[in-house]
Amino acid sequence: MTGAASPIWHPFTQHALQPQMTPIVRGEGAYLHAADGRRIIDAIASWWVVTHGHCCQHIVRAIQAQAERLDQVIFAGHTHEPAERVAAGLLELAPAGLAHVFFSDSGATSVEVALKMALGYFRNIGAPRTRIVVMQHSYHGDTIGAMSVGARGVFNAAYEPLLFDVAVVPFPAQGREQATLDALAAICARDRPAAFIVEPLVLGAGGMLMYPPAVLREMHRICRAFGVLFIADEVMTGWGRTGTPFACAQADIAPDIACYAKGLTGGTLPLAVTLCNDAIFEAHLAADRARTFFHSSSYTANPIACAAASANLELWRQPETPARVAAVAAAQQRCLARFRYDERFSDLRQCGTITALDLHADEPGYLAEVGPKLQAFFRDSDVLLRPLGHTIYVMPPYCVTPDDLDTIYSAIDAAVDHVL
Ligand SMILES: *Cc1c(COP(=O)(O)O)cnc(C)c1O
Repeated sequence: MTGAASPIWHPFTQHALQPQMTPIVRGEGAYLHAADGRRIIDAIASWWVVTHGHCCQHIVRAIQAQAERLDQVIFAGHTHEPAERVAAGLLELAPAGLAHVFFSDSGATSVEVALKMALGYFRNIGAPRTRIVVMQHSYHGDTIGAMSVGARGVFNAAYEPLLFDVAVVPFPAQGREQATLDALAAICARDRPAAFIVEPLVLGAGGMLMYPPAVLREMHRICRAFGVLFIADEVMTGWGRTGTPFACAQADIAPDIACYAKGLTGGTLPLAVTLCNDAIFEAHLAADRARTFFHSSSYTANPIACAAASANLELWRQPETPARVAAVAAAQQRCLARFRYDERFSDLRQCGTITALDLHADEPGYLAEVGPKLQAFFRDSDVLLRPLGHTIYVMPPYCVTPDDLDTIYSAIDAAVDHVL
């Protein structure tokens, strides 16, 4: 680390409190290697994107080969084999009924595209609807539209005047599921909304809040009954995180629109997709140019990113990948069990490969301050963990070993001893 100030402005970083960044020079499997020689275990998959492991050789080789062949091409009026392979592969893996694939380059953008598809659909069928229903504590990205459908708070207070109004259903906490379903039905009947957007089974940035497939299934049924489009934001939950390739499969539902990003390229390159059913695509299909889906970004379906996604899909077609996911889920369950009767924690929870637990303290105000302290302790322990408030969670790449997990959970144990 040099002493000179860097001109770089980092994401979600308060530079006044955290002036030093850790320089990383290499990634390998579940580990990051720092410039000073430290080996850091990546317990949050580098913000939920790395699935198989860092520098997964199968994906790296596909990127290298594609970079030599075709780097970039305008995607309006043109296509290429990597994109076609990704689209075909996605339709094999995604819930039945999703039939069209729109490319973009981040999770937030895939959400913007989903919202635009929903509003375009209703306008084009001549029955305009514009209101969006969301779930309390949701997160869908940091662009203006994505923030509008996400939880409001300190993170977006400055932009509040630009955010559009939405209807909110409460989070279906254990024992209060019916209140969520009743609220959704009431809003659907009263507001005639265009769409309901939801993170299936796990609300990530909201604190790794989990709810069961039966609730997801029932919310989908209610939307169906009122002609409200169901948008599944699987940006985080996709690619095995919840134990299945996509969370919607556990509720046996087919959303009208689905957003995938993060693990789409195995966590190697930025790429996102928004999938939709025939009805939505066909509502945009007309000789009338005004019905065109007016959305693009410069790097739509970048061939190198698509080659990475295509290689990722190949890995998902091999039985080893779901087997790894199941093994990590089982290992996570064993690790979490060590805290089962530990009074320092509450709300131990797991969904597939994700575990989370809340720090329990007598003084609630104290909890808000423990996050940075925990993070500093983890940093000194060479474990990459970033608690969400008083929630500690583990979301590792699937190449993680039981020994690696043991290191992670031992660090949690020691860190909490240190701060409480
Ligand atoms: C991370 C995330 C997003 C935003 O994805 P980016 O690629 O960071 O823009 C959207 N939705 C969910 C559920 C996410 O976890």
